[in-house]
Amino acid sequence: MTQLLYDHVTEIKGIGEKASEQLARLGIETIEDLIMTFPYRHDDFTLKDLAETPHNERVTVEGRVESEPSVVFFGSKRSRLQVRLLVGNHLIKAVFFNQHYLKNRFTQGNMITVTGKWDRGRQTINANRYSTGPKDEQANFEPVYSLKGVMHQKTFRRFMRAALNYVGAELEDALPVEFLTAYKLPNLQQALEMLHFPENPAHMKHARRRFVYEELLLFQMKMQAMKKVRKESEKGIPIHYDLEKLKEFIASLPFELTNAQKRVVNELCAELKSEVRMNRLLQGDVGSGKTVVAAIGLYAAITAGFQGAMMAPTEILAEQHAASLAEWLEPFDVTVAFLSGSTKGKARQQLLEMLAAGKIDLLIGTHALIQPDVVFKNLGVVITDEQHRFGVEQRRVLREKGIDPDVLFMTATPIPRTLAITAFGEMDVSILDELPAGRKEIETHWLKEDALQPVLNKMAAELTKGRQAYVICPLIEESDKLDVQNAVDVYHQLSVYFQDRFKVGLMHGRLHPEEKDEIMQAFSEGTIDVLVSTTVVEVGVNVPNATFMLIYDATRFGLSQLHQLRGRVGRGAEQSYCVLLADPKNEEGKERMHSMTETNDGFVLAEKDLELRGAGDFFGKKQSGLPEFKLADLVHDYRALDTARQDAERMLASESFWTTEPYRLLRERLEESGALSADRMD
Ligand code: ADP
Ligand code: MG
Repeated sequence: MTQLLYDHVTEIKGIGEKASEQLARLGIETIEDLIMTFPYRHDDFTLKDLAETPHNERVTVEGRVESEPSVVFFGSKRSRLQVRLLVGNHLIKAVFFNQHYLKNRFTQGNMITVTGKWDRGRQTINANRYSTGPKDEQANFEPVYSLKGVMHQKTFRRFMRAALNYVGAELEDALPVEFLTAYKLPNLQQALEMLHFPENPAHMKHARRRFVYEELLLFQMKMQAMKKVRKESEKGIPIHYDLEKLKEFIASLPFELTNAQKRVVNELCAELKSEVRMNRLLQGDVGSGKTVVAAIGLYAAITAGFQGAMMAPTEILAEQHAASLAEWLEPFDVTVAFLSGSTKGKARQQLLEMLAAGKIDLLIGTHALIQPDVVFKNLGVVITDEQHRFGVEQRRVLREKGIDPDVLFMTATPIPRTLAITAFGEMDVSILDELPAGRKEIETHWLKEDALQPVLNKMAAELTKGRQAYVICPLIEESDKLDVQNAVDVYHQLSVYFQDRFKVGLMHGRLHPEEKDEIMQAFSEGTIDVLVSTTVVEVGVNVPNATFMLIYDATRFGLSQLHQLRGRVGRGAEQSYCVLLADPKNEEGKERMHSMTETNDGFVLAEKDLELRGAGDFFGKKQSGLPEFKLADLVHDYRALDTARQDAERMLASESFWTTEPYRLLRERLEESGALSADRMD
């Protein structure tokens, strides 16, 4: 190991006490800290042709001074210095603000180089930088570091130069040569040189590629090592389900499973049977049929004498699951119970007693399932629907309920592959990428907000055919109250508009759970024709007779959310429609609306969403669980991420990784990350 790297910065000539204090304020103590401080951008000082430089663009030119500089003062501090320059055959002005002292530096007939914003109309460069003499003496590309005003960029670059010289060729590269060769990456020393002192844009790109790959490789190694350690240390309970009963149950379903469902069921069953504790994410677009997969998994555990639990983020959804699962499973002697915040008093007490005594096979509910006094007799499998709505903490509590239950997280928010292997890198992922046969694509239209009338006509036409409709109300910022008000307003308007022709219902988050239930029930049964609602219907609600959805103010929703909402229709055999009312203010908004009309594929939309909004926003800040990378960008570097994943997989599985010299540094870094010790897991 290169000891020089761990030397204190003061070992470098020119870094004294004061400089070392300043560096310490930037978190830089050792030579390694210093050379691993990456610039956040590079400024380009290559000479450009003014004729091709757009207005307001930053540009560097060299020219001959054609006039004595003139200075005008405003007040005592402010000044404007102007000089005429001949750049090629272009006579322009260079203007410097508050730098009147430069007057004596510019001599008529001499060459100078200036950098600044090009004002095309005035043929003037508003200069913020200059050097006397022609261009050659100064670097073309200058890295710019985040120095928080602690010191000048120039000083920092000087220290950087000295630091790189100090460690020199003794730098050891953690990346084995095989990777450098395979991906044509510069070695560590070359890459640092190219990053801190690039001679051309290709240098910066090369250097960046290398560090991005290194960062992602280490990240993937860490995730996979964690997964491996978890599997080895957290032995689950093998669930020896009754295959005959399971087959019988599947045969009793009113439909045949899709191939994707069959595949995922097999994945689940294999894992249930094994000693490995399941920690799996099931991704499937809206309508792909996750519920029945869950039911099969739960029933499997029940046939082996275990209890199962299923948790959903909203009361409505939990009740729907309870209803579906009871309908499917009760004929097979499964005792199903429901628990939510509204289960109270004696009923709750009784339920808890039965649960603890093992008289309930399957408990379905909301967060109420993870309260401390909810005790299972022998919980074997836990399934959570729409897992991204559950915090890490809740997942942990739930897992601790039983004796190492297998856990399956389900989500209908398709997570782009790049994020799935990142955010959920330590989980196994199953994907339902097929919709049940016979589903029609939902016809989606985007209309301007003043086009409401034809939309209402179309809606009325559907209602006349006996179908039902959702109207999703404008979302106003974060305010729950205003959202409700909006829904109330729209509800009144539509009630007046449809008069006695159709019955309009209203649903929002502020209703009591019983009221919500009544309304949902009425909508399911068809007593309500049009359901005006806030986004509470977003997840999971299943009313196959609803074929029309109108979404007000659609630009306020993210693509994934729009897709979720739209998934409430198109659940039956009839053609369904979704109308987005929106007047997007910018290109991004327009693109989002277009994407919605162009595809029904949740994965495509998710990729698009990620591209438009960036990784940080994709899940919302807090929930993301995404790692912070120094250089890598999950959107742009997804190929590298995938390559790194495969490399990490191959490496960790090979004997030589654990024993031979070329991998020693990577191995050490992996150990330092803590990924190899079981107690670091949540
Ligand atoms: P999601 O994956 O969005 O949760 P659901 O589980 O609610 O989807 O399923 C949507 C609808 O499709 C339900 O009415 C369900 O009964 C039905 N369904 C599920 N699997 C199949 C299948 N293989 N063939 C036909 N219909 C199916
Ligand atoms: Mg669902």
